[in-house]
Amino acid sequence: MINAQAVLVLNANFEPINVCNTRRALGLILNGKASLVLDGRGDVRTVSRAFPRPSIIRLDKMIRRPRPAVRLTKREVLRRDDFTCQYCGQRMPYLTVDHVIPRRMGGVHAWENLVAACPACNHRKGSHTPEQAHMRLLRLPKEPPASAIYLFSRYLGENQEWLPFVEGW
Ligand SMILES: [Zn+2]
Repeated sequence: MINAQAVLVLNANFEPINVCNTRRALGLILNGKASLVLDGRGDVRTVSRAFPRPSIIRLDKMIRRPRPAVRLTKREVLRRDDFTCQYCGQRMPYLTVDHVIPRRMGGVHAWENLVAACPACNHRKGSHTPEQAHMRLLRLPKEPPASAIYLFSRYLGENQEWLPFVEGW
């Protein structure tokens, strides 16, 4: 069975650029677009053939792409802030995202204006600036670094063998 296990995709220069599933990875290998870098996950069997199940593949041709960036989503804001309310310092699973300068005051939806906030702090702050609400941010919010370790961290727990290929990018 070909399942949806994550496969790390390296660019021709070994830069980790993407994650795909086993089926897509095998397709790239069979079409001559990528080579197997690391397997060790047993075989993928079809009726007539068996293929090593890939863990990491590398594209044969270098692809150009823009500098990677962390997508601005609620999940990523909470992750950047280590699931810690940026006003009271409480770490908890149920956090909201607060616009530091409220939107109705012209606050933008950007990394520099978004922080994790617990429901109590978010309620207390309401639609005020931190100064107006007499609240202080633990640290200045900014865009997180788009290092490969940061971008692929959620896969590394289950795929420890990727670590040497992800470090340093
Ligand atoms: Zn709080």
